[in-house]
Amino acid sequence: MSAEKDREKEIKRPPDFRRDLEPRRVFFTWDITYDCNYRCTYCSLGYEEERARKPKTVILKPEKWMEIWSGIYERYGSAQVHLSGGEPFCYPGIMDIVEGLVSMHTFECSTNLSWDVKEFSARVPPDRARIGTSFHPQMVSFDEFLGKVLELRDAGYEVWSNYVAYPPFIKDLGGAKKRFSSEGINMSILTFEGVYEGKSYPDGYSEEEIRYLRELGADLPWVRKSMNWTFDKEKYAKGPRKCLMGVMYAKIHPDGNAYRCCAQDPVKLGNLFDGTFELLEEAAMCDKEACPCWKSMIGGEEDRWADHWVVPRAARLQK
Ligand code: SF4
Repeated sequence: MSAEKDREKEIKRPPDFRRDLEPRRVFFTWDITYDCNYRCTYCSLGYEEERARKPKTVILKPEKWMEIWSGIYERYGSAQVHLSGGEPFCYPGIMDIVEGLVSMHTFECSTNLSWDVKEFSARVPPDRARIGTSFHPQMVSFDEFLGKVLELRDAGYEVWSNYVAYPPFIKDLGGAKKRFSSEGINMSILTFEGVYEGKSYPDGYSEEEIRYLRELGADLPWVRKSMNWTFDKEKYAKGPRKCLMGVMYAKIHPDGNAYRCCAQDPVKLGNLFDGTFELLEEAAMCDKEACPCWKSMIGGEEDRWADHWVVPRAARLQK
């Protein structure tokens, strides 16, 4: 039996009714910190003042995190945990935390890739992790960044790259996409959210820019869908609907508070540190006007979203 098959036994499906609900595993977005070692002018988290208003990072030792994630493993099986922030790899002890996490769950991240790829690949099995890398041209050269992406690819990870369509970068997106594609790497275009030269985005994109971005992203279904969500919002206006977010998904903030989703003023599901965290037991009604999620888990619309909640190879083998 291959090493990959051996590890498959350790990955556990949800123990209860969740195993029959799409997407058949529990997903977490874990904003472990809003700190970052980069200072990009277009950062969606804003700068000092805005960041100061965000939940503070709580530093726990890797062993304490493993206790918390073991408890989640016991209750909900192996989850798909998407580490984000801020830059998650700024968190003290992060390599130990990720190594422990993938011994029971599977892993994904959004990262600027400023860390040591060799150390990571020595500690994290490639079938348990998907790596979303974000290229930040104000902080690193394209060649240096691409070199690290290719190191991850060659180590066996599923890896892709994100590039923010900040207005001054739009002219560079096509060339970057070609270079990534020539290496077999998908490049996702993320629309800019913020203010540039007095215009508020994404509403500030011109018709021509929108057409260009749509064309450039048209080959990747998830980019296409997220752009439709951004640019055709009125199509998605909804009345009250039943949503499985909170049953099959939770978003964790750096202070340990967990929420149903990324909406403003979301339903709170408790806190990871004080032991009060619990997923909802059934889909609950939601009447938020502005749903922020293009893959929101609305009941009856599984064809739209189920395939976009993706797990690494080790968990796919069990589906
Ligand atoms: S429909 Fe959107 S806003 Fe409402 S719970 Fe689902 S993801 Fe959140």
